[in-house]
Amino acid sequence: PARLSWAVWRSSLPSAGIPVAERSRAQVLLLVKSGGEKAVAEWQACFRKADPRIEVRSWADPSVDPADVRYVMVWEPEAGRFPAMSGLRAVFSSAAGVDHITCVPDWPRHLPLIRMGGEETAQRMGEYIAWACLTLLRETRVFALAQAERCWANRESPFSARQRTIGIMGLGNLGQAAARMLQGLNFTVRGWSRGRKDIPGVRSFAGAEELPEFLAGTDILVSLLPSTPETTGLIDAALLARLPAGAGLVSAGRGQHVVEPDLIAALDSGHLSGAVMDVFATEPLPPESPLWTHPKVTVTPHVASQATRQDRAAYVAQAIAAQEAGLPLPNVYDPERGY
Ligand code: NDP
Repeated sequence: PARLSWAVWRSSLPSAGIPVAERSRAQVLLLVKSGGEKAVAEWQACFRKADPRIEVRSWADPSVDPADVRYVMVWEPEAGRFPAMSGLRAVFSSAAGVDHITCVPDWPRHLPLIRMGGEETAQRMGEYIAWACLTLLRETRVFALAQAERCWANRESPFSARQRTIGIMGLGNLGQAAARMLQGLNFTVRGWSRGRKDIPGVRSFAGAEELPEFLAGTDILVSLLPSTPETTGLIDAALLARLPAGAGLVSAGRGQHVVEPDLIAALDSGHLSGAVMDVFATEPLPPESPLWTHPKVTVTPHVASQATRQDRAAYVAQAIAAQEAGLPLPNVYDPERGY
């Protein structure tokens, strides 16, 4: 299937929205496994608002005939369920990643697998990245520690946003939303991705060969990459050493990107000035992790961009309407690229 980002997909639609084809008037059955049994009633209410033609039933409901199921939205589906769903048209991940589905041996590889996305996910991630970069710029960790000691730690911020360059790794839906917000704060923004991007005001670097140049001019590195074999362990001692002295890190893609002991060593040596981290190699972050108490690290518990159930239902409903109308789908997982 064609690979379209949410933003490109939305902009390709006629201004009146998704044309409703004759066949999309029919009721479609969506099975939901996300958030446990109690959550299913909430999902039903959300989908009633988003598109009442979508009938929502629980993945665990024994009265559902698998042959009637047209769509599933799942988190960690167990093996053995998909083969009987002979009328299935697409699989939705209830989160941004799909690894909790592709690890199931019989997931239907011939059907589109769609990652969660949408305007609200991008908006919230943009807000988080803007906050995290300002946190590093204004050294708020220093003030938080001082406040806990009732200490009047009067000091000036060495830089304003106009004097700092943010380097975003991953210029997809989320990276581009973050870039727009950071530009609004007057940061200089550059980005690194697999392919070259044409984003107004954002200097684009592409591929492994341009990574060193990208890093050398980056004051705050933002990780918004997907989790793939190529990105696992990418942010290690060698990569951090290429950043200018005093650089900061915002880690909001996946915890597997950062080699945590290498990050701590770079913070302790003074090469890095601080880090804001939302994702970790092990989640929840274990109590014994030195990151919890590190004086240069701000920790958030994987909350950078959690859209509400209503927002996610609206996204899935729009994508189902597109599929039913024979239009392309957004955010389709590409097994060759791994994201
Ligand atoms: P997209 O698929 O839209 O974008 C991914 C970007 O990463 C693309 O620009 C892609 O390059 C780039 N990329 C992928 N592999 C490489 C590589 N090997 N080298 C260089 N660039 C690479 O994803 P989203 O923006 O929607 O999401 C990004 C990630 O954010 C998700 O995969 C998820 O892990 C994480 N996330 C975290 C959340 C949180 O709360 N902390 C919430 C939601 C998502 P190209 O454009 O050239 O293909």
